Amino acid sequence: MDYRKRIQELRDILNENGYRYYVLDAPTMSDYEYDMLNRELEELEAAHPEEITPDSPTQRVGGKPLQGFTPYTHEVPLESLQDVFDDQEVREFTDRMTQTLGPDVEYSVEPKVDGLSVALEYRDGVFVRGATRGDGRVGEDVTENLRTIRSIPMVLPEKLPRLIVRGEVYMARSVFEEINAQRELEGKPLMANPRNAAAGSLRQLDPKIAAQRRLDIQVFNLQLAEGKDFRLHSETLEYLASQHFRMIPHKTLRADEVQKEIDRINDQRMEYPFDIDGAVVKVNSLSDRETLGSTAKFPKWAVAFKYPPEKKPAKVLDIVVQVGRTGVLTPKAVLTPVRLAGTTVTNATLHNQDYITQKDIRIGDTVIVQKAGEIIPEILEVDFKQRPEGTVPYVLPQTCPVCGAPVERDEDGAAVRCTGAECPAQLLRNLTHFAGRDAMDIDGLGPSLVEQLVDSGLVRNAADLYSLRAPDVAQLERMGEKSAENLIAAIARSKDNDLSKLIYGLGIRQVGEKAAKVLAMHFGTLDALMAATAEELTAIDDVGEITARCITEYLSQPQSQDLIARLREAGVNMTSQAELVDQRFAGMTFVLTGTLTNWDRKAAQAMIEERGGKVSGSVSKKTTYVVAGEAAGSKLKKAQELNIPVLTEEAFAQMLASD
Ligand code: AMP
Repeated sequence: MDYRKRIQELRDILNENGYRYYVLDAPTMSDYEYDMLNRELEELEAAHPEEITPDSPTQRVGGKPLQGFTPYTHEVPLESLQDVFDDQEVREFTDRMTQTLGPDVEYSVEPKVDGLSVALEYRDGVFVRGATRGDGRVGEDVTENLRTIRSIPMVLPEKLPRLIVRGEVYMARSVFEEINAQRELEGKPLMANPRNAAAGSLRQLDPKIAAQRRLDIQVFNLQLAEGKDFRLHSETLEYLASQHFRMIPHKTLRADEVQKEIDRINDQRMEYPFDIDGAVVKVNSLSDRETLGSTAKFPKWAVAFKYPPEKKPAKVLDIVVQVGRTGVLTPKAVLTPVRLAGTTVTNATLHNQDYITQKDIRIGDTVIVQKAGEIIPEILEVDFKQRPEGTVPYVLPQTCPVCGAPVERDEDGAAVRCTGAECPAQLLRNLTHFAGRDAMDIDGLGPSLVEQLVDSGLVRNAADLYSLRAPDVAQLERMGEKSAENLIAAIARSKDNDLSKLIYGLGIRQVGEKAAKVLAMHFGTLDALMAATAEELTAIDDVGEITARCITEYLSQPQSQDLIARLREAGVNMTSQAELVDQRFAGMTFVLTGTLTNWDRKAAQAMIEERGGKVSGSVSKKTTYVVAGEAAGSKLKKAQELNIPVLTEEAFAQMLASD
């Protein structure tokens, strides 16, 4: 068969099945078959790159990173909605509609998806561009990121000259939880909520990252359809569904049924895969919408109902303490079950000791619990009138409930932490950190393998890694002989790492990658660092008092000393290979920009650091020099704006060469 024909055929099959899988949730093809066809298409496209079009299913994985987003002017503005807060205000709205339009007005009632509004533009049935809402008139072109959303069709069955739809991009709750769990294991900062996560992901300059975030969309409005006529909003939604969009759940109802539907949506909100922050009530007739028009800000034909936070009393049965992977003790109230905002609440976080003390929450108390939407339930206050006799103020335990080590309150906050270096609660995180790319860089040792090693009892601390044997590792699930051997080899390789990677890998609080480098270079050996006093540490640029205390405390603990001794025995390198050549750049901060021809960035950075200087990623008033290579961009401009001296590569080389 002609390859062009086969490419088109493969695209049609893959698009159809993507639609069945992602939108209808009813795949008719196995993942394996899908992958094989996708592979065939990739191979054909690789052989005939001129045939690649942006709407090909192979182009969804995320292309090259962008420099920035370009503005996109919305042909039909993306209006915002007027809020209403109770049934009275809903009735006022429907009464207004009855007065203007007569007694038979129909409404569409829909969940208000808590995400980000976008417009998607199609020409001749092909997705061409998409943009965020921005201020409603001008948004940002985020086409590349939208392409990664599998439930956005790239081609439509009907090829209208032009079609623009509006929808809400969101991150499904389940995806949000999965990604956050992974981030926690990797010690990365957690995303606050699905909405923020979706917003951050859609505005990623690197579409590959956006693709990993598995965003989704609910389409809720037809903005424009050239060559089509519709009478009703509900008809447009049905049409969009026929064009392979995921259509927002909606019901068409009379005024007297609207409030009941709003309440039902609130009650069953957990059945949607996405968060909602209200319900939207819209006049269904499109000609009526035109008659009504808009105010300066809102359409007059719709309102958004915002659910109030629900409050109910519950009894505190117990207060339990959990130890997070960073060692923080988090108290939690165990409550008698109460139904709030569509979920059954059985516990509430108590944050920390200060929070408990301030509200004086005690075991046995009756408290008022509040939950607004997806927000974590919180205790508003104690009902002191109902306090039983004999309760006592609650105090967090002085020892870790998991490992029994003493706990300690953070200098700089309200958090109380377990000090045990081998506390099982912290072990997973510590080991994952130890093996991470910027630490000991043990290839293949990610969070899930760490978990397996710990669960199987093979590893209890980082030193145990170095006595692992391939046959034992090969016994683990999903591990074969070959991968076990690879792991052992990667662990062995890590013994030769520079001291700075080991210091960082130990996971001492406050000691990041940069501080670890400075310490390694300054002391040269781990022994010298262990012998350093707090004063000697604070004398170093970049090491403050808190950091110095964290270091001395960590290194003086018997568990840490034992760990270090065992690492040494295993042959892990404890000296710095990068020695301080001299101090000519002491106190100076360099920024490197553009392409250097003599060195790569890392080498240039090492040469600056070996001479006592620092390298920063951004230009500020604190920058001493900017070294500008070929094709230097915004950093060079910033340096000129701030009057920071700019060095050519030759000038920099001379500074290095001179005595
Ligand atoms: P607000 O931002 O509070 O003015 O509310 C309006 C926003 O709600 C719109 O910009 C949409 O992004 C969003 N929205 C979510 N779901 C819907 C829906 N079913 N109908 C209309 N707007 C919706």
